[in-house]
Formats: sequence, C-alpha cells, structure tokens
Amino acid sequence: MSVNSKQNVKCPNCGQLSDVTVWNAITVKDSPDLKADLLAGKINMFRCGSCGHTALMPTHLLYHDEDKRLLISFTPCEEKLRRRLYDNVIETSKESGALEKFNGYNLRFVTEYNELLEKLLIFDAGLSDKAVEVIKLMILSQDLEKAEQRVCRFGKLENGSLEFMIHDRKENQVYTSSVPKDSYDTIYSRLRESGMKPYSFGWEMVDAAYATRLLNGFNN
Ligand SMILES: [Zn+2]
Repeated sequence: MSVNSKQNVKCPNCGQLSDVTVWNAITVKDSPDLKADLLAGKINMFRCGSCGHTALMPTHLLYHDEDKRLLISFTPCEEKLRRRLYDNVIETSKESGALEKFNGYNLRFVTEYNELLEKLLIFDAGLSDKAVEVIKLMILSQDLEKAEQRVCRFGKLENGSLEFMIHDRKENQVYTSSVPKDSYDTIYSRLRESGMKPYSFGWEMVDAAYATRLLNGFNN
C-alpha cells in the first residue's frame, strides 16, 4: 500500500509556507504512476511556489516492487550517519520480523536520491546491482587518479550495451561510458560461480564498498 501524509513546510530560502505531500511508502503494484513520478524526481521533493527553491524532504521512504521482488529502504542522510542508520534498520527489522514475508527478495538500503533512482533503473533493466557495482569500480579504476572525485551511475541498457554516466565533481564534467551486455553477463556469471547470492537474507547496502568486498572474495 502506498502511504502519504501532508506536511506544511516553511521554505528555507524565503520563509513561504507550502503544503507538501510526503510519501512514506510506495507500492508499485498499486501506484505505477508514483513510480513514474519518483523516476522523474518529483517524489518527496519540496519546491517553493514563491521562490522556486527545491530541496529533498528528509523523509524515510519504503519502495516495494512485488513483481521484481525488490524492497528498498531509502533514508536520506549525511554520509557519516549512513552506517548507524543502516545498523538501526537491520536491528529494527530483526526485532519486528517484518522481513520474513520478503523471502527471495532483494532488500536494499540507500541514503541518496540518485542512488535510489539508479537502483530502480538497474532492476527495471533486469540487471543485478551487485554486478553493476563491480563494473562501476572497473570503470572508475581506468583513471585511478581521478576515481575519488568521480561518481559513476548506471544510466540505461540499450542496443546491447550498459551505459554509465560519470560525473567528475572537480572538473564539473559528465562523461559516458559503455560496457557491452556480454561483458556484464560474463562478470555476473563469474560472481555467481564465486558464491554471490542473487537475492538477500537481510538488508544489504550494495555500493562501491560492497563491490570491493565482493572482489576480495567476500560473498554476501
Ligand atoms: Zn521559497
């Protein structure tokens, strides 16, 4: 079930009050239109009608796609709080037993809006985000000196290729990089052979750090 609430928000820029519909849960089956809004960056995004200032609402969102067996917990937060919030979500789920009905699911914990959208695109394309994270590491390692200042995100699967966007924050440039689907398939098979699970046994944070652990022989 998709769940929302109305909040009266004061614009941090000009002080104007606006009513904002805040979504706490989105179930794709019930509300495919909400998924489209999410992909368009419209969900939980405050936009001041007076001065045009935009900001992400600091709201927890649970995204559930039954067909893709995907459950994403999105908690916007600063990088330094990421680990603590992740541990909290794991602890809370364990206590409540809420995850028992999500057998065979991929359970993801994300803290950035772009990360959330990227997960949707990856799973919509029928890909594994674990293999995609490994490929992203490979792409960034092609220019190791600049890897720290770059963010790589999956864009789309088209004409037999995975397309990635690389944002260089220092140079303020965006590059694209393509990887043949065949290479993805090979990497995916190797990871599966080495023990990577195609579904979750609990919340997982599948990011660059995860991919690094995977490459070092750690399996889930
Ligand atoms: Zn404003």
